[in-house]
Amino acid sequence: MKYEEHTAIGITGLLILSKIKILGLDVNIVSILTTGIASILADLDHLESRISNKMYSGISRAITNLLSLVIPTVLAVISYIQFNKWNNIYRSSTSSWNPFVVGLVVFAISNLLIREQYQVIKKIVAYGVAFGLIAYGIYKENRILISIGLFIGTYILTEHRSGVTHSILSAIITTLIVLKIDIKYNLNLTRYVLLGYLLHILSDCFTTRGCPIFFLL
Ligand SMILES: [Zn+2]
Repeated sequence: MKYEEHTAIGITGLLILSKIKILGLDVNIVSILTTGIASILADLDHLESRISNKMYSGISRAITNLLSLVIPTVLAVISYIQFNKWNNIYRSSTSSWNPFVVGLVVFAISNLLIREQYQVIKKIVAYGVAFGLIAYGIYKENRILISIGLFIGTYILTEHRSGVTHSILSAIITTLIVLKIDIKYNLNLTRYVLLGYLLHILSDCFTTRGCPIFFLL
């Protein structure tokens, strides 16, 4: 199903369901935009692959390999600098996690994963981002960053093979992440994200391809 169709279903759903007072759905620019964006959230993997196919088809294997070394190295160095800064400022070693070690693990894992799949540049970047977020989240003791990193990591690992973003599990994880950000910044938008996301899954279930809503079971 196309993005435009998903967006249309999401926004139409919002307009209809806003009539049911108990759901507490308001119709305004922000809620319409949020629902619209959330409606295509589950298909971001397709969007990403479409863009990356166009962008990177001409890039040689050598450059891809080089980047697979450079990106994790940069992440490892950044983690190291951050850790030293943190240690200088607080002169404490309360956290047993050394982001530099995490950075090296990132380096090793992303290289291992990449070697099997040359030319998949977006994977390199995505894994870098995922592990980077986890490492930085651990260093900052920020559970939101860790959750997002874990989610992206799991997401790429399972991407395309199972359509894991079209499952109830994925809807729950997405909602929890959004809820945390929502509460922190007092945005009050979780219900619209959930609505858009669920309507996306629901409408995909009616296509011939279907979707693995009970992923993991
Ligand atoms: Zn979909």
